[in-house]
Amino acid sequence: MAHELPLLPYAYNALEPHMDELTVRIHHDKHHVTYVNNLNAALEKYPELQQKSLDDLLKGIGSVPEAVRTAVRNNGGQHYNHSMYWEVMGPGAGGPAKGPIAGAITSAFGSFEAFKEQFSKAALTRFGSGWGWLVKADGKLAIESTSNEGCPLMEGRTPLLVIDVWEHAYYLKYQNRRADFIAAWWNLVNWDAVNKRFK
Ligand code: MN
Repeated sequence: MAHELPLLPYAYNALEPHMDELTVRIHHDKHHVTYVNNLNAALEKYPELQQKSLDDLLKGIGSVPEAVRTAVRNNGGQHYNHSMYWEVMGPGAGGPAKGPIAGAITSAFGSFEAFKEQFSKAALTRFGSGWGWLVKADGKLAIESTSNEGCPLMEGRTPLLVIDVWEHAYYLKYQNRRADFIAAWWNLVNWDAVNKRFK
C-alpha cells in the first residue's frame, strides 16, 4: 500500500487571514506531495517496508536498510510532520488550550501563557528550517524543536502539537517575519486534535 497525501480537512482558504490560501495550496499540493512521492520511490524495492505504517517506519528508522535510510528519514519524516501539521490546525480554532491537555500544560509549564511563550521561542530560535513541538516523553510534556525533517517519533517521543517553521510555511505572507507568523499561528491551533493525540 503506497503512502498517500492526506486531503486537507478544510478548504484551502479556511485558515485565512492567519495563513493565506496560496501558501496552503503550494505547501500541501507541491511541497507535501513531493515528500510522499519521494518516500514511495525510496520504498519501491522494499516490499517488506511498504507493509509498515508510517509511524512504524519512523519508529524503526534505525533498522531501515542503509541504502534508503536517509531517503526514508527525510521524506518519511517530512510526510509525517506535514500530515500532523494540517491536522492540528483548523478554522475557528486557537485560543487557550482546552480539554485534558489544558491541565497537563498548566502543571508542566506553570500557565498556558508560559507554555505559549516557551513554545514560540523554541520555534522562533530554530536556526534554518525545522519544526517546533510539544511532545510527551517519559510521561511528561516537553517542548523541543527539530531541524529539517527531524521528528520526535524517530526518537521515541510522542508528538502532540507541531508548527512548521521552514520558510515555505510563511514566506509568501510574512516574508522574513517568522515571529509574526508564529504569533498568528496560535489562532489556528485545533485543541481537539491535540487532545486526541494526548489520550
Ligand atoms: Mn513544510
